[in-house]
Amino acid sequence: MVQTGPITENALVIVFGASGDLAKKSTFPALYTLWEEGLLPEKTRIIGYARSKLSKEKLDEQLFWKIRDDAEQGHRKEDSEKMKEFQALVKYVQGSYDKDDAFQELEREIGTIEKEVFSGQQSNRISYLALPPSSFAQVSAMIKKHNYTPNQINRLVIEKPFGKDTEDCKRMMQSIAKDWEEEEVYRIDHYLGEEMIREIYHLRFANSFVEPLLSNKHVEAVSVVMKETFGAEGRGGYFDEFGMMRDVGQNHLLQAIAIMMMDAPTSLTDDSLRSNKVNLLQAIPPVNPTNLVLGQYAAAESGPKEDGTGKAYVEDETVPDGSKTATFAQWAMQVDNERWKGVPVLVKCGKALDKGLMEMTFHLRPPPNNIFNVPAHSNSLVIRMNPEPAVFFKANMLKAACRGTETTEEEIKWTVPGRKVAGDKLAYEANIFKGDQSSFVREDEVIAAWEIFTPLLNHIEAPDGPTPTLYAYGSPGPEEQYELEEKFGLLST
Ligand code: NDP
Repeated sequence: MVQTGPITENALVIVFGASGDLAKKSTFPALYTLWEEGLLPEKTRIIGYARSKLSKEKLDEQLFWKIRDDAEQGHRKEDSEKMKEFQALVKYVQGSYDKDDAFQELEREIGTIEKEVFSGQQSNRISYLALPPSSFAQVSAMIKKHNYTPNQINRLVIEKPFGKDTEDCKRMMQSIAKDWEEEEVYRIDHYLGEEMIREIYHLRFANSFVEPLLSNKHVEAVSVVMKETFGAEGRGGYFDEFGMMRDVGQNHLLQAIAIMMMDAPTSLTDDSLRSNKVNLLQAIPPVNPTNLVLGQYAAAESGPKEDGTGKAYVEDETVPDGSKTATFAQWAMQVDNERWKGVPVLVKCGKALDKGLMEMTFHLRPPPNNIFNVPAHSNSLVIRMNPEPAVFFKANMLKAACRGTETTEEEIKWTVPGRKVAGDKLAYEANIFKGDQSSFVREDEVIAAWEIFTPLLNHIEAPDGPTPTLYAYGSPGPEEQYELEEKFGLLST
């Protein structure tokens, strides 16, 4: 039996890959902010571990780059005293990822902290792998061998991508499962920490009027749209290997769909929620390549800008020459269960588009006895994450009494003012300490998600696979998207 539950004291967070981009942009800022808010367990200490020799200045940059950047942009205040205090909690240890003696040395450093700070008690350990996935198996095995405390809590945190397809994912999961129990593994999908995603549970299960609408009885189609205004600038190396479907479709968007379309959980326990998501994902057959549109952005019609945006995807220095990677993808899915059978789920996502948008729309059927003759899709429930978090119903209302019975489309809207940035990430990372896995992805969930996409990805990546249609940077994307929307009877967004 592994130790579970909340970590309330003597917490040791070891950030492997402390010299890298994720540590700098996400892991250290999250730890600092949690600490600043008083949300870390008592006597928490942090070790940054990597192969690079980090000077004091470089470590300082890794720890506070994001804090300073946020402060520069007016999102927070820079408090140099607090930053100094935080820095005192962090120790950097240089070492390799494949040598026993490096992990033994790490254990000696941990022992010193336990003696000096935790009164000789063993620590509860969170090992955060801010490393390329290729090193997860080796590093997680080394930690288990040399840095595991059987009588205390041990957690392993990893970030997506969890493999590149079903088989690759299974290999990764199996290599970790050799040493770690599922209760100890926290697979991060930051989308699950987004405020509006968390809000969906309340929308659906803390109210009695939404849930009865959510089935094929009332819903005609579901559409999910994620549009980004920026391209892959400077991240082309990573993005080109993964593409749009792997980057957001197989994980973030599918998670949003699962949370909105799964059956009601019996309780808020981790496994009740996650089992229902798995059931939903397992009811989605692999995506049929005939219902697919791929695009890649070309240069903006007005040409590239001085800041480097507006260039064609293939012109980016970090993108391999002649790349066929899609920066826009649209596909249709079905959920083959009693509740959703016959309702198409149309998803589109893309980079370098005309506007930033993330929303999920449940298009409702017209009233059964349509006495006002309202048009199709004039009723819908929209859950919007970007640009402003909101939930709204599009409803047909009386236009004006003097115009007889004519209807007009109105929005009955609930917005989430000012809460967009405040709590989301904080609450997410804090859950690792609390031992709440509900917003982390379970092993069978990741595998079920890959099974939906792997045949399609194999089709796309075959030597004779489809070539994405070019669209201009800053445009709404390829024209074919509207044909697919028409095929499924949807209006375009
Ligand atoms: P990096 O490429 O910056 O690697 C992180 C650190 O790992 C490096 O500083 C380096 O440290 C070490 N490293 C690099 N290559 C290897 C290798 N081949 N084998 C072992 N160690 C290596 O990655 P990121 O920080 O960008 O990302 C880490 C993980 O997080 C990846 O899985 C990534 O996909 C994921 N991710 C990243 C995001 C981001 O914004 N960067 C966003 C979401 C997920 P040293 O040599 O000093 O040991």
